[in-house]
Amino acid sequence: MSIETVSLSGRKTQVSNKKMTFLESLYLVAIVKGLFITIKHLFTRKVTIKYPEQKREMSPVYRGQHMLMRDDEGRERCTACGLCALSCPAEAITMKAEERKPEEKHLYREEKYASIYEINMLRCIFCGLCEEACPKQAIYLTTSKKIVQADYDRGEFIYGKDKLVMPLEQALNNTKLKTAN
Ligand code: SF4
Ligand code: SF4
Repeated sequence: MSIETVSLSGRKTQVSNKKMTFLESLYLVAIVKGLFITIKHLFTRKVTIKYPEQKREMSPVYRGQHMLMRDDEGRERCTACGLCALSCPAEAITMKAEERKPEEKHLYREEKYASIYEINMLRCIFCGLCEEACPKQAIYLTTSKKIVQADYDRGEFIYGKDKLVMPLEQALNNTKLKTAN
């Protein structure tokens, strides 16, 4: 008794066991058809580029590598609340919170700060949800052309504060520009 299977996609095709004709058994028609498809692609627009000699134009709305922001006085904005980590669908963010000491007021804006803040770039899908969840405007996916570089070592893709925190000079320059305008 044969069991009739139901095609869920509606694209089921019945495999035929019919004997090939002499012409079909030479495969000439099939080879010519295959070659035609290959030749056709020689004249279509190429989707690949010769990277790194050629570089693709980035979209104006491109959002690249994350940056942990500083405020106008150069202090780190992040208060290690963990909301970015909670909202991350890829579970790419980890951190360790510390209490700010009185002598560290010039370094961290809030009473609590992230002594360790790491993003696993192999997990990140650049969705921007961490940026949206942050109540302190402390994390942004930058509009700079910075991309996560390729590497051979998985450990190199765990980005810590050394790679994520905004350079101090950049924060101070931004403040200068703001006061000048
Ligand atoms: S961009 Fe998305 S996936 Fe990447 S760390 Fe932020 S929330 Fe997670
Ligand atoms: S980056 Fe923002 S959301 Fe994430 S821990 Fe810091 S303050 Fe909280």
